[in-house]
Amino acid sequence: MTAMPDKQISELKVLISENDISKKVKNLAENIEKVFPENEEIYVICVLKGSVMFCVDLVKHFSHNIQMEFIRISSYGHETKSTNNLQAIDLTLPNLHNKNVLIVEDIIDTGLTARFLTDLFKIKHSPKQLIFVSLLNKKCARQVDIEPDFYGFEIDDKFVVGYGLDYKGFYRNLPYIGYFPDSKSSEKIS
Ligand code: 5GP
Repeated sequence: MTAMPDKQISELKVLISENDISKKVKNLAENIEKVFPENEEIYVICVLKGSVMFCVDLVKHFSHNIQMEFIRISSYGHETKSTNNLQAIDLTLPNLHNKNVLIVEDIIDTGLTARFLTDLFKIKHSPKQLIFVSLLNKKCARQVDIEPDFYGFEIDDKFVVGYGLDYKGFYRNLPYIGYFPDSKSSEKIS
């Protein structure tokens, strides 16, 4: 039997349009590039799966030489909310000691993932420069004291999908960011 999402696309409301995302991504790329030395390469770390769309669009605007790396984080347990049981489950990275590193995330909610990643990279790799960018920032949901160096949009405590973000694995392919009007962030499924 084919799996179907239990929330229908017709219920979705657009929160951020494709056009607004595209303008913001270009603008973010321009600003991010300024913090890295001109003739040095940047190691761009795409945090799967949610940041895949954002990351590939972002790097298209870079004029630096870049290397792209992909990591996956799992937050396990039976929680549907954020948990601090975080673990890097696919972390095959080159030696990033003394390199320029850009971590690309889809959304910062409680901040637990951002804190985990930042600590992990600082401790394990001691990069020359570590910059963290998130497309979305739910400042109101923060549980740990952390802010990205760059973010695209601040949003309310809504559960959002699209442009890489999923609901039970669905809707990552939408070109815009949407939300289900009756849902709260606590419905997050990891
Ligand atoms: P945090 O650790 O900051 O609570 O959560 C980070 C991760 O939770 C994100 O990378 C994302 O995978 C997931 N997440 C948080 N909020 C949302 C949301 O509104 N929608 C979706 N689809 N995922 C979310």
